[in-house]
Amino acid sequence: MARRSDARPSEARRIGILGGTFDPVHIGHLRSAVEVAEALQLDELRLIPSARPPHRNAPQVSAQDRLAMVTLAVADADVLVVDDRELQRDKPSYSIDTLESLRGELSADDQLFLLLGWDAFCGLPSWQRWEELLQHCHILVLQRPDADSEAPEALRDLLAARSVSTPSALEGPSGQIAFIWQTPLAVSATQIRALLASGKSARFLVPDTVLAYIHAHGLYRGAN
Ligand code: ATP
Repeated sequence: MARRSDARPSEARRIGILGGTFDPVHIGHLRSAVEVAEALQLDELRLIPSARPPHRNAPQVSAQDRLAMVTLAVADADVLVVDDRELQRDKPSYSIDTLESLRGELSADDQLFLLLGWDAFCGLPSWQRWEELLQHCHILVLQRPDADSEAPEALRDLLAARSVSTPSALEGPSGQIAFIWQTPLAVSATQIRALLASGKSARFLVPDTVLAYIHAHGLYRGAN
């Protein structure tokens, strides 16, 4: 399902990945993805809907609907593409499996950037085989300017050894950590599900094509 960019065919490609339940995808995800793609001059940024997220409750709508909505959302966004590999697996969506699978398709020089919010990054030590993640990708931590959190003890050594001062200093295919500062739009899928469940409008919080899909398929009308 992922489309390839031929922007720099003879060079290493720069590929970002943003996983999520996308239940539904919204403008917070999309703006953030576009801003990161521009800041890092990515060839593509893959949105990867997760099948059975290991860290949270089951999504409210089917994988098929979530995939359809993400596909509609990125239809005209050149650099944003959908990657449905986690929905093809009949297993929990562990990032390490996704990264290994992606790496199997890329050339050794291609650069992979795993986008993680600060909260997700802090939870890394509970992830499956988390210490192997950096063998396959760089980690780009999306940090809010107003955040004043400290990294957990388990990550301090890793940060000391692997972090670089700015995203532009990330070199090679994998292995380093950088922070990118973004002011996220105050939108969440939880908020959108709640609006729709109570019969309110979600217009301008999701792309119009996604909203049309939600209405056409009667999604999120029940309890949140
Ligand atoms: P929910 O409200 O159901 O928890 P969500 O809106 O947080 O959903 P997810 O699918 O869980 O959406 O998010 C996927 C990724 O997008 C996560 O890394 C999350 O941190 C990030 N993200 C979510 N909302 C925003 C936002 N408003 N701006 C930037 N990034 C966001």
